Amino acid sequence: MSLTRTTCPYCGVGCGVLAGADGTIKGDPDHPANFGRLCSKGSALGETIDLDGRLLHPQIGGQRATWDSALDQVATKFSDAIRDHGPDSVAFYVSGQLLTEDYYVANKLMKGFIGSANIDTNSRLCMASSVAGHKRAFGTDTVPGTYADLEEADLIVLVGSNLAWCHPVLYQRIVAAKQARPNMRVVNIDPRRTATCDLADLHLRVAPDGDVALFNGLLTYLADHGQLDMAYVTAHVGGCEATLAAARASDPLQSGAAPEDITQFFALWAGTKKVMTVYSQGVNQSQCGTDKVNAILNCHLATGRIGKPGCGPFSVTGQPNAMGGREVGGLSNMLANHLDIENADHRDTVQTFWNSPTICTQAGFKAVDLFDACAAGKIKALWVMSTNPAVSMPNAENVAQAIKNVPFVAVSDIMARTDTGDLADVLLPATGWGEKDGTVTNSERRISRQRAFLSAPAEARPDWRIISDVAARMGFADAFAYDSPADIFAEYIVLDAATRPFARDLDLSIFADADYAKLVPTQWPRNDVRFFADGRFYHADGKARMLPVQAPVAQQTGLTLNTGRNRDQWHTMTRTGKSPKLGAHLAEPYLEIHPVDAAEIGIAHGDLVEVHNVQGRNILRALVTDRVASGQLFAPMHWTRQTARGATVNALVAPVTDPFSGQPALKRGDVSVQPF
Ligand code: SF4
Repeated sequence: MSLTRTTCPYCGVGCGVLAGADGTIKGDPDHPANFGRLCSKGSALGETIDLDGRLLHPQIGGQRATWDSALDQVATKFSDAIRDHGPDSVAFYVSGQLLTEDYYVANKLMKGFIGSANIDTNSRLCMASSVAGHKRAFGTDTVPGTYADLEEADLIVLVGSNLAWCHPVLYQRIVAAKQARPNMRVVNIDPRRTATCDLADLHLRVAPDGDVALFNGLLTYLADHGQLDMAYVTAHVGGCEATLAAARASDPLQSGAAPEDITQFFALWAGTKKVMTVYSQGVNQSQCGTDKVNAILNCHLATGRIGKPGCGPFSVTGQPNAMGGREVGGLSNMLANHLDIENADHRDTVQTFWNSPTICTQAGFKAVDLFDACAAGKIKALWVMSTNPAVSMPNAENVAQAIKNVPFVAVSDIMARTDTGDLADVLLPATGWGEKDGTVTNSERRISRQRAFLSAPAEARPDWRIISDVAARMGFADAFAYDSPADIFAEYIVLDAATRPFARDLDLSIFADADYAKLVPTQWPRNDVRFFADGRFYHADGKARMLPVQAPVAQQTGLTLNTGRNRDQWHTMTRTGKSPKLGAHLAEPYLEIHPVDAAEIGIAHGDLVEVHNVQGRNILRALVTDRVASGQLFAPMHWTRQTARGATVNALVAPVTDPFSGQPALKRGDVSVQPF
């Protein structure tokens, strides 16, 4: 059986996969992300490609319909809403599961042809705070590091990242590097004692959102011990003095970590030149997520520990194509190709290139605001693509109600029944992994191909084609006359060339003459370029910025719910839920609770418990464990109303967001627990 070279559809590590139509799955030994490794989820991909539960035909009002009638209805409803209520009365909510070509076309339709920026994505829930933090510090959303840097570092600091479960192949690479160089040190900063602690020399058990106080404390310690690189700061960084003054107002003990662990961590950081700080959702999914990102970046900028091998901050994205979505501008506060909506020259360049009748002039609704706008009756037509916000959004019950409140809802998905699809007026069957072609970008800026090795089932179509067909029916046929994802990728690369005068970080010229069919995994701008090696950043003066950030005041009143992921499941389990092997790892929704709290409430290990607050209610199996600290709880977010006991964990999280990024604080729900 010949195998097709493609990319795993799950996490942001972006592993290369060799896949066959008979379900054969192997790690691609030539892919630079994984060199042949796969984790449990990737290895089980062959068990997930059957057609059970698939959406195979368009539906209108729950009845099978033709493609023509379904596409006509979507185009008519969107056109009617725009005519009657203006372009901002419609919205797309898309996904980091979309391929870059799908994302590009959806963004182009909304921003250049409808004339609104109301396109947001579940990537808002994943890494928006990193984007905002990068832009504040560097002037651009640039991820400076690479996976190879992790293997070269002498100290890896993991912050809010259960890498062992959520980015397993990257974790395996660090394990191997540490075995090869036993002097490498790993510090894990996390309120929970996760599987990632197995690798760590030191675990700092911080309080929820204790990171800003910790990194402000680190900056102060570095200054007080003569460890700032003032020559580097003078030449390349602004804002150091004010940032240091703000940092001095923090007490690192506010972080909640043990004093002796803090001292050890600070000394280790100060004494190690090659430091990589890797951070993920524990940093981003917070009401102070952007400040947490900048607190980390401040320490790297103040010491010149950036732009060098084995050195720097490194954001790892949860989704397979969150980075590709960022690149094409598929967020409501971005334009395209890392350009800014607020900049008239940027808008003119994109509009001229697209030859579009209009262009959005201001940011659209970010995810939480978007569903609030649905609830408030401001959105008259909504198109959800490849995601399940009725489960994954905070305050999920209200989000489901908000979607019901929209007069017309279209959902594109691979599955016939999802919590969001059940609310749709029109269901559009999309092709899934193995059936579609396109590109994705992983956490280290590496663009790889996803390639089809299965034929599209029944009437399913790729997302880019569905969007283009609707665009044509809305009167924009010429601008969306694509025959293939290769056409779209080629247009995207030419648009990138048109943005060169703006001297942004994104530079895709290496792909200008690439053979799309044979495209090999390639980092932008080039495999051999190291961002910020010359000390040049992207603010107008060429300098980076340190940002004064303040530690939030501790607010804990009762039990704090932390949400997250299991090793063997992905998002709402539409795909991984098909694999008996993966389901055997942790078979039902659960709640980790500390023994002291369990005893106080009268709960034994294995009991069913009710978790509730003003937002919602959930029934979970108690796992009594000191993996969580007293006062804290943990529950995975994968189960849905359809697969669990009628409720979803994210229903228990208030829709609180970071003020800069709009990213929801999914790691902090205030809840009560009682025996069920
Ligand atoms: Fe897929 Fe991520 Fe596992 Fe790699 S580490 S095989 S990309 S889920």
